[in-house]
Amino acid sequence: MTSDTVAPCEAYLDISDLWKSFGEFIALRDIALKVARGEFICFLGPSGCGKTTLLRAIAGLDPQSRGTIRQGGRDVSRLPPSQRDFGIVFQSYALFPNLTIRRNIAFGLENAGRSKQEISARVSELLELVGLTSQAEKYPAQLSGGQQQRIALARAIAVGPGLLLLDEPLSALDAKVRVHLRGEIKALQRKLGVTTIMVTHDQEEALAMADRIVVMNNGVIEQIGTPTEIYRTPASLFVAEFIGETNRMAGVYNDGRVTVGPVTLITGPRGFHRDSRVQVAIRPEDVVLRAPGESGDNLLSVRVAAMEFLGTWWRCLLAPTDRIGPELVANVSVGAARRAGIAPGKALQVEIPPDRVLIFPKGGADA
Ligand code: ADP
Ligand code: MG
Repeated sequence: MTSDTVAPCEAYLDISDLWKSFGEFIALRDIALKVARGEFICFLGPSGCGKTTLLRAIAGLDPQSRGTIRQGGRDVSRLPPSQRDFGIVFQSYALFPNLTIRRNIAFGLENAGRSKQEISARVSELLELVGLTSQAEKYPAQLSGGQQQRIALARAIAVGPGLLLLDEPLSALDAKVRVHLRGEIKALQRKLGVTTIMVTHDQEEALAMADRIVVMNNGVIEQIGTPTEIYRTPASLFVAEFIGETNRMAGVYNDGRVTVGPVTLITGPRGFHRDSRVQVAIRPEDVVLRAPGESGDNLLSVRVAAMEFLGTWWRCLLAPTDRIGPELVANVSVGAARRAGIAPGKALQVEIPPDRVLIFPKGGADA
């Protein structure tokens, strides 16, 4: 078990059988995760699900109760933070208020005993990298939140760590700055090629930034996948509803079809037993407009009950004609809505493509 040889295709970060308890409370259970070198991973989940706890265990700031963490082929499970190889950025910037920007960035390099000359050159390089060269002699309080977070980032990558850990680095910033900085962080990460884990509770941020997303809930990993996998083929109703919106309905599955009230939708085989009671979820953008009179599978006759303008979308509430079938929310692009002449009260047909009907086991809690 103590072999330090690195197999060529071994994960850069390999977490297995990791548990964390605070007293009686189990904050993380049975966590297993492999991260490839250079990957950008997001831990995504609601507040309190254990994202920060897992990040802190990886850093050694708050060690796991049991389980193994290997980084770069080295078992770091029991090492203190100072002997691990990471840089970290917190939501709260955590810059030293009494040090200039330059000294803040230099801090880790000074601790590592680098020469004055080397430190000066490296700090200048980092200031340029985050676009804040002109701010070098200011103090943190003189910078905006977005600028402070860029400095925190520069400080975290100063010594060239193998792993960059970011705990909700954008959530204290206002929306515009957040979107801008997320592009910058992503570009910087690509440029440096540094393996990165970012914690966020913001699904859009995770979809936009991550190579792979680790969706967490109540101390467990619900799903690990690329943004498109997570979005298109959510592994659970929780994932489907946390990432993206859904129309959710109770149904019964039988041989490649699901029945919701009086409506039967073709789904193709899904591996449920006959007569399984299931939860059906349909994303508002997967409700497709069809001309009245068109024929095909999974067509529903509806009437536009209400519509809201959301800039790029109309969000339409569709009521079943003759009150037969489910109510649906549909996101219709502005162009498609114009072509179809959508207006409140208008009768329409919509199609639910079979592969877009998401089906999950009927959960215990809301069965
Ligand atoms: P997240 O970052 O996903 O919002 P955390 O990892 O901070 O969640 O917390 C996960 C759970 O563990 C929460 O229920 C939290 O209250 C609990 N927790 C975190 N740190 C401690 C601690 N030091 N002592 C006791 N409970 C803790
Ligand atoms: Mg947290």
